[in-house]
Amino acid sequence: MKTKVAIIGAGLGGLACAIALRKQGFEVQVYEQAKDFRPVGGGLALFPNGLNFLELIEPDIVEEIKNSGCCLQKIVIKNIAGETISSSLTQDLTNWAEPIRNIIKNTPSDNIFEVPICDRSPLNSWSQGRVTLLGDAAHPMSPSMGQGANTAFEDAWVLTQCLVRFSNIEEAFNEYEKERMERTKIMQIKSAEGEKNQWRTTKKTQPQPPKTRKLDSSFTDWLYQYQPFLKISNV
Ligand SMILES: Cc1cc2nc3c(=O)[nH]c(=O)nc-3n(C[C@H](O)[C@H](O)[C@H](O)COP(=O)(O)OP(=O)(O)OC[C@H]3O[C@@H](n4cnc5c(N)ncnc54)[C@H](O)[C@@H]3O)c2cc1C
Repeated sequence: MKTKVAIIGAGLGGLACAIALRKQGFEVQVYEQAKDFRPVGGGLALFPNGLNFLELIEPDIVEEIKNSGCCLQKIVIKNIAGETISSSLTQDLTNWAEPIRNIIKNTPSDNIFEVPICDRSPLNSWSQGRVTLLGDAAHPMSPSMGQGANTAFEDAWVLTQCLVRFSNIEEAFNEYEKERMERTKIMQIKSAEGEKNQWRTTKKTQPQPPKTRKLDSSFTDWLYQYQPFLKISNV
């Protein structure tokens, strides 16, 4: 009999996990609250760790992603109608980089969505009984390292592997948490620190331009060259 899995949320992590599980023969049902697809106007930066896990979930997808894009030589910012946004200064963002000021100035206010950046202190457990968490539900992080989706892809693949290797669900979730919690905890903390540094304000209402982010090479190796299952015991 095929093991049935219900996934709540057809976001990046949920869908990646659904694909990975179906490939392993699980019967997967995805439940999504949204009634339709709508553009959110956001781009997604994929880093080597996220791409490696997408490739594990769907071989050759990285080549497809690369072929549908191109190497960046320069950035031209356009509005949703494809028009290049022209130059003009805004009074209260004079210290910000020009493209940012232009975007804000030239975007109709109806198209600007203001949403708070929310994170949360790392949890001590993601699982209860036959339910576990992945992606933002497990480890929401502020966007300074651009790792929210990338780590959701890591989760999706690792969780699938744990469910394949361990027929006992509690054991599978234990191994999943052992493999994932420490890494994502570090990322949550580093991302929060990065956010504070980037958006620190010196005057009451005057945001300062983001500082150049510096990550040392041992940290970037740890971040981008993540190899899972080094700690997962053989079964
Ligand atoms: C503007 C923007 C830019 C970003 N850029 C990057 C980036 O460059 N790189 C990066 O790695 N990350 C980025 N992120 C973060 C990334 O999008 C998230 O970390 C990632 O989407 C998390 O995946 P998820 O599946 O956990 O959650 P989501 O993708 O948010 O999916 C959750 C889904 O669950 C659904 N849902 C919620 N509650 C219920 C319910 N009760 N029943 C049914 N369905 C439910 C929601 O409708 C949603 O579809 C960005 C986020 C934003 C908003």
